[in-house]
Amino acid sequence: MRRLRNVKIVATLGPASDTKPIIRALFEVGADVFRLNMSHGTHDELRRRHEIIREVEREAGRPIAILADLQGPKLRCGTFADGPEDLVENAMFRLDLDETPGDNRRVCLPHPEIFAALDVGEVLLVNDGKIRLKVEKCGADYADCRIEVGGEISNRKGVNVPDVILPLAALSEKDRDDLEFACTLGVDWLALSFVQRREDVEEARILADGRAAILSKIEKPAAVKAFAEILAASDGIMVARGDLGVELPVQNVPPIQKRLVKTCRHAGKPVIVATQMMESMISSPVPTRAEVSDVATAIYEGADAVMLSAESAAGDYPIEAVSIMNDVAIEIERDPIYRDVIEASRSAERTTVADAITAAAREIAETTEVKAICCFTHSGTTALKVARERPRVPIIALTPLVGTARRLCLSWGMHCVMTSEVGRFKAAVVSAARAAQKYGFGSDEDSIVVTAGIPFNMAGTTNILRVSPIEIRSMDDFESD
Ligand code: ATP
Ligand code: MG
Ligand code: MG
Repeated sequence: MRRLRNVKIVATLGPASDTKPIIRALFEVGADVFRLNMSHGTHDELRRRHEIIREVEREAGRPIAILADLQGPKLRCGTFADGPEDLVENAMFRLDLDETPGDNRRVCLPHPEIFAALDVGEVLLVNDGKIRLKVEKCGADYADCRIEVGGEISNRKGVNVPDVILPLAALSEKDRDDLEFACTLGVDWLALSFVQRREDVEEARILADGRAAILSKIEKPAAVKAFAEILAASDGIMVARGDLGVELPVQNVPPIQKRLVKTCRHAGKPVIVATQMMESMISSPVPTRAEVSDVATAIYEGADAVMLSAESAAGDYPIEAVSIMNDVAIEIERDPIYRDVIEASRSAERTTVADAITAAAREIAETTEVKAICCFTHSGTTALKVARERPRVPIIALTPLVGTARRLCLSWGMHCVMTSEVGRFKAAVVSAARAAQKYGFGSDEDSIVVTAGIPFNMAGTTNILRVSPIEIRSMDDFESD
């Protein structure tokens, strides 16, 4: 089984996608990366989901990436006694520090620093900005608000206070605890919420200590401003449009998305476009045309991945959401205009031998009928360089390191294959040819491009390229070279 598209699909897990049959089905219909949101769910639940994903991975024989999303300094309300509540326009609603579960008249907002900073007339936004509350009266431990725009509120929904600047530490006690837990489980990616400065990323990297790659969620105006520095310190980026569209006017989101995707592609680092991609599918079996168009836009932009949040975590149609996203991706990537757009927006800055080799591999794929670009990689750097070229044919990343294979699952066009350590280039070609055939990329008459670094086992040394027929399947098939 192989994917018939370049863009990757990230599916968030939650109560709607909690069992092995569902997680397996999500994988089968298209999820390449599973996101565990540390804001919701206990460590025990996360451990169980993590175990199930690894079982599905073992049974499928294909690496799967797991991304743990740290809550970060996101303000959230408490829980509700009787499930979701409807807040009705013009009624009053109180936020306070009382941890008793809430109802339709009040809920806990466990952040004394907000009450200290709030003033009458200020606005609070709940659930990615869907509910709007205006403060009419407030004190050190409460705020009485008029409901200006109503809607459904439920456990631990995010709260934004756009007009108030709060002193935010990048990682809370809970985040440090969650980070350590996620690394111990063995997740592949850590997503940092509300990153504001490069130091926030560096702090997490020290704590992760090489156990997981670091992805920065861009959802604060400060992060948009400091984006170049944050990108340099990160392994990947998420355009977290939910909070971004609350912290900044919504019309600013599309140009920011375009700029972020473009800059990440140029840097050769994976970028996820996230939030509300198929929002209506939380309660409908089909997406709106506008949502399909939104997914398509991210694909035409050349994003590495598109993401589902509540659609797969808490919606009524998690499998359908992934499956339709998969169908949309396949169809868009078949459009000749897609190739034109991707090629026109390709980054041309190349400074190293490895850059030149990977560009040459892509050039060969454009000029001839090769079926795949196969690259041997330890750290994943070479594979990322190939992905940056956005070639016309699939990329097969061969690596002996399971962590590398899993992390690369997030990147555009990448099919990750585990291989044993190879000591000689000949052996590498043989193993690439076998992988190409085994996973259905081509048959004996076809050819592949193989890149590797000699000597092997040295990071960042890609310096060799060969076009080889797939039918070479043992060392004896080589003439003496
Ligand atoms: P973030 O800002 O990190 O995206 P979020 O609250 O928007 O946080 P998502 O992961 O985007 O969370 O999921 C959207 C919604 O789906 C959540 O607000 C929540 O209602 C529901 N949800 C997601 N994961 C879980 C979970 N593990 N348990 C319960 N509800 C969940
Ligand atoms: Mg967010
Ligand atoms: Mg969200």
